[in-house]
Amino acid sequence: MLETESTTLLIDAGLGRKEMLRRFEAIGRARPERVDAVLITHEHSDHSTGVAQMAREWNCPAYLTEPTHREILKMFADDPENPGRKAKIERVEYIQPGERFEIGDIEINSFSIPHDAADPVGYCFRKNGVKVAIVTDLGYLPELVKQHLREADFLILESNHDLEMLKMGPYPWHIKQRVMSRTGHLSNTIVSDFLADSEVFDARARHIVLAHLSEQNNNPDVARISAAEALGRRGCDFAFGGTLHIASQRTPLGPFDL
Ligand SMILES: [Zn+2]
Ligand SMILES: [Zn+2]
Repeated sequence: MLETESTTLLIDAGLGRKEMLRRFEAIGRARPERVDAVLITHEHSDHSTGVAQMAREWNCPAYLTEPTHREILKMFADDPENPGRKAKIERVEYIQPGERFEIGDIEINSFSIPHDAADPVGYCFRKNGVKVAIVTDLGYLPELVKQHLREADFLILESNHDLEMLKMGPYPWHIKQRVMSRTGHLSNTIVSDFLADSEVFDARARHIVLAHLSEQNNNPDVARISAAEALGRRGCDFAFGGTLHIASQRTPLGPFDL
């Protein structure tokens, strides 16, 4: 959730209503009275399963690309527990990757990311010179994505797996290949290489959140040590002075004031 004085956005909706409300409670928050929009990155269920429900809960539109919407309709149309209803988003606003738009007082940039989904995007948000960037679910970091991560004051970045743990782990080989591919997920190593490189990453962020960690193929301590070591490799002129956080799949993080 991203909130200014006048605008509240939800980015992705991988949880159902009950779990969502439990998590608001866990960070000492009541259910938000008003949410202006739900923004979806791509159709995979860990990002989209609650979109129709959330949009209904707050009677707000969902922002997503047309191919993403089409896939969500397909995925949930035949849900035996909830036929049709899970997919039916009442108000849809189509966006294009690369498009810049505004919701309330927040300026938003969407941009394509390489992932095995129909039309996946990452998002940057700006308000009063403060920039928040959210990028998860991508196989590598293209130049364009690195550009969008510049000048972020708050960065949420996927650090999905440790390569050795993935290789030795329980996933079938074709899934391992999928995760490791250029349209899969970012490894701790790719993230570390990015964080260490002061020519591509400016380290201006006050907070870096490593997110979307695999429970099978990663470990919060392994991801943290890898990223902290990489940040420590930066020259002192470009040192990272912020805080590194590791997001968990089970418990909410925050809130953070920016
Ligand atoms: Zn995901
Ligand atoms: Zn995904």
